Amino acid sequence: MDDGALVLFSGGQDSTACLAWALARFARVETVGFAYGQRHAIELECRGPVRDALAERWGTRLGPDHLIDLTPSLTALGQTALTSEAAIVMGEDGLPSTFVPGRNLLFLTYGAALAYRRGLRRIVGGMCETDFSGYPDCRDDTIKAMQLALNLGMQRRFVLETPLMWLDKAATWALADRLGIVELTVERTHTCYLGDRTHRHDWGWGCGTCPACGLRAAGWRRWREE
Ligand code: ZN
Repeated sequence: MDDGALVLFSGGQDSTACLAWALARFARVETVGFAYGQRHAIELECRGPVRDALAERWGTRLGPDHLIDLTPSLTALGQTALTSEAAIVMGEDGLPSTFVPGRNLLFLTYGAALAYRRGLRRIVGGMCETDFSGYPDCRDDTIKAMQLALNLGMQRRFVLETPLMWLDKAATWALADRLGIVELTVERTHTCYLGDRTHRHDWGWGCGTCPACGLRAAGWRRWREE
């Protein structure tokens, strides 16, 4: 197995930074996206244009894209504010109503199964413990436990790479700057939970008021002030 990488790529700011990070390091990089009935499905439409822009610079390294539709199985399990029009609120358990239980665990499991088939050793994801929205499946301990479980269960030596794990949003913008993808990130990536691409801010497109827009905008402002 060579040192290729599979990037969990949604079309958002974080996974775009991860994709550029991987392209700068690994000789062979493929991408996988997941449909799960997300209300911001427009994010998935950003994937092609972002990949095209990155291919201009790293075209020889960027391999095939894969799209896996988990919508029927995840919607069958119930609705969240990320997959319906329900309000985005904080629950009594400290988790926002946008939390989709098991989502990242499924992404990593499907990603590893695909990486197995494709002969890719590294699996790159944008999980982040620093600025995260309270999602327990983004924690470093969760990722390390998944790496162990996947390697045991598939008899492989996958490496789960999470380059954003200890970065806040300002540092993610700084990373985009070092990788030369700030303009691409602003214009082409999508973060807004509400799927808004009619309002353009200096940090990119979005409603400007949902939690995802709030994090992205605040990170931008801190990065610009540093
Ligand atoms: Zn928004």
